[in-house]
Amino acid sequence: MMTTAVENYPGFRDGIMGPELMATMRAQAERFGTEFVTGDITSVDLSGPPFTVSTSDDTYQTRSLIVSTGASARLLGLPSERQLMGHGVSTCATCDGYFFREKPIVVVGGGDTAMEEAIFLAKFASHITVVHRRDELRASHIMRDKALAHSKISFEWDSVIDEVNDTEKGVVTGVVTRNVKTGATKTLEVEGVFIAIGHTPNTKLFVDQLELDANGYIVPKGGARTSVSGVFAAGDVQDHTYRQAITAAGSGCMAAIDAERYLESLPEGKAVAVESRVA
Ligand code: NDP
Repeated sequence: MMTTAVENYPGFRDGIMGPELMATMRAQAERFGTEFVTGDITSVDLSGPPFTVSTSDDTYQTRSLIVSTGASARLLGLPSERQLMGHGVSTCATCDGYFFREKPIVVVGGGDTAMEEAIFLAKFASHITVVHRRDELRASHIMRDKALAHSKISFEWDSVIDEVNDTEKGVVTGVVTRNVKTGATKTLEVEGVFIAIGHTPNTKLFVDQLELDANGYIVPKGGARTSVSGVFAAGDVQDHTYRQAITAAGSGCMAAIDAERYLESLPEGKAVAVESRVA
C-alpha cells in the first residue's frame, strides 16, 4: 500500500500502482466470499484451539489462523522522508531501482541489506553514495569488499541525513548530510534515497506464543506451519530473505492450503471449523 508503481508483479505487463493492486486483490477475494473486518488486533491467545483474536471492539474465535502482519522497514524518522516516500524515497531496491536509470542516488545504512541494495542499484544508477553513521560497516566481509571495490559506489562515513529535499517540489532533489564527528553539513544532489537500515517484523502480539528467531521473525516449521499447530504464517513476517510482493502472495497461497488441510484433518471436519464472532 505504501509503494507507487509496482513493476515486478507478474501479469501486469505495464506495471500497476500498489494501492490499485491491493484493491483488485481485495475485490477478487470478496468475489469468493471473504469477509473483511478492519481493526487493530490488540491481543491474541494461541493456547487453543480455538484461538482467540481480539480488537478493542470484538473478539473472534477460530480453529485456524494465518498470521501475515508483515515487517516494517525501519525509517530515519524525518517528516520529509515520509512525505517523499514513493516519490524518490524508497525502502526496496528490487521494487524501485529501475526508476533510477542513470540517476545519482543515496543508500542509507551499513549492513548487508545496504550493501546488497547499493550493488544492485549500481546496475541502474549513475552513481551511489552510501551514507553510514559510523566509519565501519556492519555488513559481512564479502558484501563489504564488493561494495568498497565498486567503481560506481562511494561512501559518506560518520554521516547521517538531516533532511530530504524537496518537499515543496514533491520529488527528491537531494539530501542534507551531517558528519556526526565534525558537525559539518553538506547537500548531496541526488534523485533517489534508499533507506536500508533494517526491518522490524510485526510480531509483538505473538511473543511467548509463537517461536520467533533472534530478530523477531516467525520461525517456519515446514510449509506455512509455525510452532503452534493450526497457526500458519505468510509473507514478510516469516521471510527476511526475499521480501517481494510475489513471494508473499505465494506464501499466502501455501498458508491457505495448509490451513484448509489442517481444518479437514480435525475430527469435527470442516463444517464447524469456521470462525465465530463471540462478542
Ligand atoms: P542490520 O541491522 O544488519 O543493519 C542495519 C544498518 O543500518 C546498520 O549498519 C546500522 O548502523 C544502520 N542503522 C540502523 N538504524 C539507523 C538509523 N536510525 N540511522 C542510520 N543508520 C541506521 O540490518 P540489515 O537489513 O542490513 O540486515 C538484517 C539481517 O539480514 C542481517 O543479519 C544481515 O546479515 C542479513 N542479510 C543478509 C544478506 C545476505 O547475506 N545476502 C542480505 C541482506 C541482509 P550501525 O552499523 O551503526 O548499527
